[in-house]
Amino acid sequence: MPELPEVETVKRGIIPLLEGRRLFQVIQRRDKLRIPLPENFAARLRGRKVEQITRRAKYLLFYLDQGEILICHLGMSGKMTLKAAADRDQPDKFEKHDHIIFETDRHDLIIFNDARRFGLMTLCGQDELDQHPLFCKMGPEPLGNEFNGQYLYEKIINRRSPIKTILLDQRVVAGLGNIYVCEALFQAGISPERKACQISQSEADKMVPIIRLILEDAIKAGGSSLKDYARVDGELGYFQHSFKVYGRAGENCVNSGCPHKIERIIQSNRSTFHCPACQD
Ligand SMILES: [Zn+2]
Repeated sequence: MPELPEVETVKRGIIPLLEGRRLFQVIQRRDKLRIPLPENFAARLRGRKVEQITRRAKYLLFYLDQGEILICHLGMSGKMTLKAAADRDQPDKFEKHDHIIFETDRHDLIIFNDARRFGLMTLCGQDELDQHPLFCKMGPEPLGNEFNGQYLYEKIINRRSPIKTILLDQRVVAGLGNIYVCEALFQAGISPERKACQISQSEADKMVPIIRLILEDAIKAGGSSLKDYARVDGELGYFQHSFKVYGRAGENCVNSGCPHKIERIIQSNRSTFHCPACQD
């Protein structure tokens, strides 16, 4: 599942192709992703200019002319792939799950492919974004200034749920996913099972820069994967990560001198990976 760094990588990958371009053509190959696509979706986008592309949590926001925003979420399996315009008229060049095809006025094709169709595309007015149901309850960006130790401490001080669960709560901090929460708690030496209200101010102060650094490192790794990717026939947003605990159940803890193995537990129906010795 694409997490914040992957979405950021996708954003950085499509900006050079889409930002400032007009949509020469949009091909819509189904009516519905996770939710129905807006009525006349492709026709409404044709000829529109993409003025700016930003990210909010794990959503890509395409600011269009006429004060509208195309909101896009990659869901569980969504990805953007790139193809040459010459492929446009050859249906066998497209895959079954290529749902939306954007062709720019420079005739680059940017394709939204989503095998599991948990992704989403919808339109909203730029002045309605803050009140939009997807965004109105969303907490601050983990890489933004509003997310700091004091803020986090105030958000968790009265919460009795495990800290892992609280950090995944999008109302507390937006866009932080399972992988990076596991990694951050390991690096902070905090047990994912600890009640949030038992986290001290200094631990909250310590966690915030760790979360930022882990995300920034992953974004950097995504950026270096972008350098290698070919301009066309490329797939954006997925790259090799090295994780210290995530997906490493049964392997030795990476902390020197720790004889324990990484354990996997289930919290709120999600896998948590942690070292029971290094995290308390
Ligand atoms: Zn350990």
